[in-house]
Amino acid sequence: MRVVICGAGTAGCVTAARLSEDPTIEVVLLEAGPHYTPGNWPDSLSHAYRVIRETHDWEYFAQAGASPRLVHVPRGKVVGGSSVTNGAIALRGLPEHYDEWESFVDGYSWESMLPWFRAIEHDHQFGTSPAHGNDGPISINRHPRANWYPIFEYFAEAALSAGHPWIDDHNAPGAVGVGPTPFNMVDGARQTPADHYLDPALSRTNLSLVSGVICDRIRFSGTTAVGVEIIDGDGAERFIEADHVIVCLGTYASPALFLRSGVGPREALDPFEIPVVHESPALGNGMQDHPKISYRFWIDTPIPSWPHPWIQVLLTAYAEVAGEKRLFQVMPYVGQDTAGHKFADINLQVADARGRTGTVRLQGRDPHLQPVLSMGWLEDGSDRALSIVGGAALMELSRIAPFSDVVRSWPNQDDRDHALRTVETFHHPVGTLRMGRPDDPTAVVDGTGSVFGIEGVSCFDASIIPRIPSANTHLAVLALSERLCHAFRTREN
Ligand SMILES: Cc1cc2nc3c(=O)[nH]c(=O)nc-3n(C[C@H](O)[C@H](O)[C@H](O)COP(=O)(O)OP(=O)(O)OC[C@H]3O[C@@H](n4cnc5c(N)ncnc54)[C@H](O)[C@@H]3O)c2cc1C
Repeated sequence: MRVVICGAGTAGCVTAARLSEDPTIEVVLLEAGPHYTPGNWPDSLSHAYRVIRETHDWEYFAQAGASPRLVHVPRGKVVGGSSVTNGAIALRGLPEHYDEWESFVDGYSWESMLPWFRAIEHDHQFGTSPAHGNDGPISINRHPRANWYPIFEYFAEAALSAGHPWIDDHNAPGAVGVGPTPFNMVDGARQTPADHYLDPALSRTNLSLVSGVICDRIRFSGTTAVGVEIIDGDGAERFIEADHVIVCLGTYASPALFLRSGVGPREALDPFEIPVVHESPALGNGMQDHPKISYRFWIDTPIPSWPHPWIQVLLTAYAEVAGEKRLFQVMPYVGQDTAGHKFADINLQVADARGRTGTVRLQGRDPHLQPVLSMGWLEDGSDRALSIVGGAALMELSRIAPFSDVVRSWPNQDDRDHALRTVETFHHPVGTLRMGRPDDPTAVVDGTGSVFGIEGVSCFDASIIPRIPSANTHLAVLALSERLCHAFRTREN
């Protein structure tokens, strides 16, 4: 059987590597960005201590949501996708939020995901403990507290003084408190599915990677997929035949591909005269993301300059909002502006975000046009309330010594509107092709990633996540795509 995978990002690299382990499956992996072979990565990408937005990016802009602004929402455009441009923060989130997945789709819960979280990782500090893995492809590491820069130590001391518990392992099930941030890195080098899943598999004769091409649309015969129409780097159109298409273009681009292919809500296709292959009313709706609100402080203490760690410590905490226990995350980044002023951006993440109002639509039929993105941040009243409570708690930390001795706040950050004025993405959009049960009109794929109503097409990327995890999403996408590959191979063989 010939499987064509659209998108060599986080999910696409895992999927290509796992499916090509089976010699009866011929795998073709299609990707718009460049492929860097081992040892030839640009420094900026191979180093884990930066988020990349300036290069290897799709340059998408989005409507913010409750705050009417256009905001850059980066996405990696390179083999490895956003795993190569992200912050390399390796968090799982709390079990209770994975347990909520079961309310959408049978068989999904924390217990059912834990083996896949263990399978993907080699945790250098906790690998031998029952909740962790020691043999997986992706190495996880933390900066030991003894090596922290003073600013991070002062932040932790303020959090401890405020009553937050110390935790050694933020990925231990149920851990909430302050402690070292886990990263997918070794000695500052980013550990990605491009290097650790895809590259070792590329020597297989049944796997081919085609980079520098745009996936335009899936071609159907009736409602059965027969392949993918692509556009080469020189603008030529080509057709790649497939017995099965697995879409891994990410939360923004996957729904856009389906819409261009005639799968989606009728009202989203008609304006562009796209013939309807299958009407899928919820496709492109229900996007969730973590709203991020940044609080900037000038700082008077030595800070690391690139390429040294810009993040070392993380605080997660519960807050009560309208009688409910909610979770927020606080993460200080440090840096220096062009005038040489040292700053700390202390970032608040609405970790257990509830909002589901984000959407992806087409701007036109041309695959080079970015999709129309509306993020929906803080449109949910309880998310907005949590952002205010979390922001107040964060500002409180800045008033506790020794942290207060070295930071100076920017004006108006105590103001309740700060969140609405400045909210942006923490880069974790999910849910535009949400998993669900066949009788759920708001679901687009089933628990194996197969798209309802059409044959021969699945989606394995962040788009299908039914409820945003309460942490950064990279590990969740790795674990989910591993699980789906296993299910696919079991089903096919
Ligand atoms: C700036 C940034 C920082 C982040 N920081 C963190 C972090 O520190 N920790 C964490 O856990 N998570 C982080 N994330 C989130 C995490 O990286 C994503 O959740 C995850 O990578 C999503 O995987 P994916 O496979 O769904 O999509 P992606 O990895 O984005 O892969 C999609 C792939 O499809 C390709 N593609 C798209 N459209 C087309 C097309 N039409 N034709 C051909 N190819 C196409 C893209 O180039 C890309 O390679 C961050 C994300 C970003 C963007």
